[in-house]
Amino acid sequence: MTARAGTAGELVPLAERIGWMLGCRALFVGMLFALWRATGHTHVPALLWAGAGWLAGTALATLPYWTRRTGTGSGPKGAVVALTVGLLGDGVLLIGAWYLLGGLDGPVGYLIVLHEVAVTLLASFRTGTKLAMWYSLLALIVVEAIDARVLDAGPMPSTTLSRLLLYLTVLWVSVLATAGFAAVNERELRRRRYDSEVLRRFGVTLTDGHSPATVSEQLARFPRDELLAHRAVVVVAPAPDGDEPAAPGHAVVVEPTGGGRPVRLHAEAVGSGVLARAIGSGTTTLTARLEPAAGDAWLAELLPGARNLVVVPFGLDQATGALVVEHGRGGRYRSRRVERRMVTTLEQATLHGSLAIGRALLVDRIRAAADRDGLTRLANRGRFDAALAAAFDRAAAGGTGFALIMIDLDHFKRLNDNHGHLVGDQVLRTAARSIAQSCREGDLAARYGGEEFAVIVDGADEEVAVGVAARVHQSIRSADGPVPVTASIGVGVYPGHGATPVEVIKAADAALYRAKESGRDRIVLAGSPAAEPDLPPVDAGVAA
Ligand code: GH3
Ligand code: MG
Ligand code: MG
Repeated sequence: MTARAGTAGELVPLAERIGWMLGCRALFVGMLFALWRATGHTHVPALLWAGAGWLAGTALATLPYWTRRTGTGSGPKGAVVALTVGLLGDGVLLIGAWYLLGGLDGPVGYLIVLHEVAVTLLASFRTGTKLAMWYSLLALIVVEAIDARVLDAGPMPSTTLSRLLLYLTVLWVSVLATAGFAAVNERELRRRRYDSEVLRRFGVTLTDGHSPATVSEQLARFPRDELLAHRAVVVVAPAPDGDEPAAPGHAVVVEPTGGGRPVRLHAEAVGSGVLARAIGSGTTTLTARLEPAAGDAWLAELLPGARNLVVVPFGLDQATGALVVEHGRGGRYRSRRVERRMVTTLEQATLHGSLAIGRALLVDRIRAAADRDGLTRLANRGRFDAALAAAFDRAAAGGTGFALIMIDLDHFKRLNDNHGHLVGDQVLRTAARSIAQSCREGDLAARYGGEEFAVIVDGADEEVAVGVAARVHQSIRSADGPVPVTASIGVGVYPGHGATPVEVIKAADAALYRAKESGRDRIVLAGSPAAEPDLPPVDAGVAA
């Protein structure tokens, strides 16, 4: 007879169960005392001594467990043995009392049933059934011993085997019914415990996620990995950052197997269909199927043929979005009806996950802001220096080149003097936008300082570099700013004009100086003579 560590042991610690069983034992000895007082039976004092001795002995033997002291040298195995031996002894004591106090006609039979119920509830179901087996065996031995005249038939004169079997049937039914009813209760407890455990684990997982996409994947994996749902999608639509437009949104799809699949968020996805309903109402929304014609087309493409969806929305300062879970295809939550418990667990996970997504988005924004110039929103000097070093490393490792284009607005001091610094600022912003628009995706445009800008063109030779410079030059000239402005541009190329980033900067700077010297509003390639530009004049806003 062992207390199964895997059942009640999970919910009630072994030490606690040993303590409860001791209390129970004391109660039964007390009841034997009460029987003695009530019946005045001659056998009872001996039984009481035996009971009190047994109680004291087991209490002392299990002292380290029920006082929950550990490190006494006996591990949990010792505790299980103590509990088992204690219950075996209880069985012998109570069957002894049963025999001496009238057997089936006496009162102890009821105490035995009560003891069974107590053990089934306090120890475990298995322990209860094993104890019932033990009681059945002992009772049969007593009856057989009386039959064989080994025991005196005096205390239980009218015990027949059929009456005993009837009594044992009642005992077994009591045990099994108690076990069954308790199991219903315990299942609920066990489920809640499982749910809180998976949420705790999920919380720990989230501390590893550093980018919004990683955290979104962790959230999308949670229903599949922990709740055995079928598929899931996390949709994240970042909110605009002050004056800045919103960053592009993303989604992560998790299929029944494998990792998350990142997907670009369709611009209208969160504004239509079930996603819009859930996000708009801020409440979890259940839907049997997606309706592509009613705004769910994008989601239906991600989850073809999806059924039984739970959409848990979230809304933060940094982003809105939702966790979409498909369930009902087996697993822990088998029923096709969505259990309230699953919804609650998903809501909790979404709350944790969305906060982590918001935090990751915020970190991204702070990082981006730290790299950007406050006035023009181009990369700042720090970012430029790092990008130049990286471009150099890439070019040196790959045997390719890169170009550096230095841009300086012409007569900008005069422009400030004539129109004021606020207009000057506006011209700087316009010029920055023109420069950014003239670059390709992989190029880096930066504000180098004051009214000077720089562009790094990865993999460019002289021809490409001069082509980009010409686009920048023309774009600044023709920009629709408050005051027209021109720029002088110097171009240096690695490795042709310098063997290190510093040498390339020097070469581009020298070319820029020559562009200024030779009349401004033109492009000069390092190592080449400054040519007169063939451009229409710009009515630059520098005239007094
Ligand atoms: P050049 O054609 O030789 O380049 O003449 P310049 O006047 O443009 O050259 P200079 O370097 O003498 O003057 C740069 C001016 O840019 C001086 C400064 O007032 C202005 N400036 C620098 N940063 C800012 C800024 O953030 N806002 C405004 N409005 N002006 C700025
Ligand atoms: Mg300057
Ligand atoms: Mg200037």
